[in-house]
Parts: sequence; C-alpha cells; structure tokens
Amino acid sequence: PKNKDLQVYIKDQLYHRDEAKVSVFDSVVQGGDAVWEGLRVYPEGVVCLDKHLTRLHESAKTLAFTDIPTKSEIKKAIKQTLEANEMNNDTHIRLTLTRGEKITSGMDPRLNQSGSCLIVLAEWKPLVYDNNSGIKVLSCSQRRNGPQYLDSKIHHNNLLNNIIAKIQANVAGKDAGLMLDDRGFVAELNGSNVFMVKDNKVFTPFAHACLPGITRNTVIELCKKNSIEIEEADLTLSQFINAEGVFATGTMGELTPIVEIDGRTVSKDSEVMKRILDVFKTTIRTLCEPLE
Ligand code: PMP
Repeated sequence: PKNKDLQVYIKDQLYHRDEAKVSVFDSVVQGGDAVWEGLRVYPEGVVCLDKHLTRLHESAKTLAFTDIPTKSEIKKAIKQTLEANEMNNDTHIRLTLTRGEKITSGMDPRLNQSGSCLIVLAEWKPLVYDNNSGIKVLSCSQRRNGPQYLDSKIHHNNLLNNIIAKIQANVAGKDAGLMLDDRGFVAELNGSNVFMVKDNKVFTPFAHACLPGITRNTVIELCKKNSIEIEEADLTLSQFINAEGVFATGTMGELTPIVEIDGRTVSKDSEVMKRILDVFKTTIRTLCEPLE
C-alpha cells in the first residue's frame, strides 16, 4: 500500500508513521485545541499556499497560541516532508498546529509550557469525490455554528457539528450533509462550501456560518474574471433544490456537482456551472506556489 512507509513531521523532526505520535498531554487530546489546513500538492507546487498559511496564522492568533511558527518555517517543514516521501502529485497534506503539550491534564492554556506543535502529514490521496457523477446530499438537523457561538473563520479542530452532520448523511446513505445556519439558511456541506446557479447567475452563502473556504474564494474570483455574475446571499433550501445547478467546493474535492438534495434531483447540465468547472480545471495549476 502506498501510504505504508510515510514519514510524518512532528514539531521539528520526521518519524516513520508507526512512530508518529503526539503526547496524551497534548492540547489537541485535552480539548481539540488545535488549528489545521488541508493542502493539495501538484508538481507545480502547493495550491494557494500563502492563503492557507495566512488562515492558519490568523486562526492560531485568534486562539492566542504562542510561538506560532513563521510561514517560512512551515514551508521548510512541508518541503522536508514532501522530499522524504518523494511526493509531488496526488498528495494531500494535513497541516495541524496544536497549542502544544501540557504539564498536566486540563483545558487551561497556561498548562502549556512546551510551545506549539506543528504536524505535517502528507499522504497519497485521490480527490475525495468522483467529480463526473456528482454527489447526493441530505439537509441535516444539526446546525452549523455561526460567529455568535464559535467564529467560523477560525479553522479549528472542533468540527463536531460537521461530524454529526456527516453521520446523519451516512445513516441516510448520502455522500455529505448539507448544513443550515441557526436561522435556517444554507451554510455549507459538512466539509466543503456550496454554490448554486439560478437564471445563469451564481450564488453562495455569506461566509458567516461557513468556513471562508480558499476554493470558495478562488471560484468567486474566477467568476468575476470571466464575467459570470456572482453574489453572496442568504439562501434557502428551496432555492438550492430548485437551482439550475449546485456544486461543492473544497481543497480535497475541488469542484463537485451536487445531483441530489433530500431525494430531489438537481440537474448537472447548467452551462454556467459547466463553464465554472472547466475554468477551474484549467486554472488550478496556475494557483500552485513553489515551496522556495
Ligand atoms: N468547510 C469546511 C467545514 C471545511 O472543513 C473545509 C475544508 N477545510 C471547507 C469548507 C473548504 O475549504 P477550502 O476550500 O479552504 O479547502
């Protein structure tokens, strides 16, 4: 198997996957107290690397992490990990920054005295969805938290509401959970953002109760560049069910048509959607940034 002998970077060193461990005293074990990024690697480099590192930094700063590694330190760690694994394509990187190891069990950040802990886990992974056949989703009773509960701009490891939504989708035999915010407007899928096309215009939910995804941002920019009308809005489930086209966006799946919502078929023939999917495919590698 391809991932059998992975080398994983932890703190400042590489370990064989069998030895790649964090302490039971680590803040991530003690309270899910960590931030993360999912990165996609092509031979040309890492997709939107600087944007991912900025989001990691901003998330860590918001959570008052101390001694956050610099962008260039993180790039070095990524480079070292990719070289050790001889990876440059079909690679997904899970970058995690935990608050670090505590002196005793507990939640209080003052128990952390060893400094933050960077983990670079690079694995061979194909894109998460079959983008040709599209995915089926289920709207979930589990709401996505908005900023009044936990700021969705922090890309933290407390994704339990998203995980519960995924469990609901699993039980129903669907590919992903479609999450609403606490007002009942569509927020995002359990692990990706959503867009819809109506009257040849593109809409996506405001980034209040969803992660402001980097792929989401790329799609918004590409629409603007290609004179496709795009608007952020409060959007209801009915608007999505009756759209001309609906698609998900994320680093792990890139752009994926959604062909069913709650048992209702959604067409994947929207010309505007097809154009966006095409433009994205031809652009994605130009968004890669080398590590040096
Ligand atoms: N929403 C959630 C909840 C996610 O976990 C992710 C993936 N990190 C996304 C959206 C997509 O974000 P991005 O385009 O930055 O990968």
